[in-house]
Amino acid sequence: MKRLILTAAVFFAVAACKTNPFTGKSTLNFYPNSQIFPMAFAQYDQFLNENKVITGTSEAEMITRVGQRIATAAERWLDANGYPGYLKDYKWEYNLVNDETVNAWCMPGGKIVFYTGILPIAESETGIAVVMGHEVAHALADHGAQRMSAGMVQQIGAVAGNVAIKDPEKRNMFNQAYGLGSTVGVMLPFSRSHETEADRIGLQIMAIAGYNPDEAAHLWRRMKAKAGGQAPPEFLSTHPSNDTRINNLTAWAPAAKQEAAKFGVTSFK
Ligand SMILES: [Zn+2]
Repeated sequence: MKRLILTAAVFFAVAACKTNPFTGKSTLNFYPNSQIFPMAFAQYDQFLNENKVITGTSEAEMITRVGQRIATAAERWLDANGYPGYLKDYKWEYNLVNDETVNAWCMPGGKIVFYTGILPIAESETGIAVVMGHEVAHALADHGAQRMSAGMVQQIGAVAGNVAIKDPEKRNMFNQAYGLGSTVGVMLPFSRSHETEADRIGLQIMAIAGYNPDEAAHLWRRMKAKAGGQAPPEFLSTHPSNDTRINNLTAWAPAAKQEAAKFGVTSFK
């Protein structure tokens, strides 16, 4: 029986490993986009139905504009690196929600929400681009799918070789991975290595989109300064800020600009 479990696990590991172009890593991934995206899209629609979406204001338009530029930059980078059509299943959407919570997130497949509460800390379009780049990077790097896959590995152990995951179990795993079981839109924290990866990828994408990557360290300093206040930013509960993060972003900014130069982008807003 043990042997069977091992065989099943190895089979799935081999079958499900794929190299992510953004991280260059071959990661265990049981969940293809075709399985995760429909669940994410449904959760996203539910969230929008239950919250007040702002449209038609200059701020709402700014969120859309930054999102489109970030998405275009990601697609340009993929095209240039031999992955045309990699994001074909993405259905990009960028919404501003009227809520004082200091937060923003991106679900698999490019479903993004900014809360109005994060705008004062973002300060400018470039600050929005820092957050947008980072959140989109989590999606591009398949961090959510990896978390789901980790849950599946545990489950394989738990159910002794019964690797046939039924739909309700898959949904449950999705909810666990995204923390969406009870409160839709409340994301669980990613691991520190995923955070670092999203910082690095996000910085590159924002630079290719024409936004100054030097702003990233400034934004995290502002976020950190808010942490001691009466209402610490919700964003910090899933994105702990520390000096290492700020130092990394400062150190990586020149490389992000060099990457952008390959795409003819040499001046930044
Ligand atoms: Zn993050």
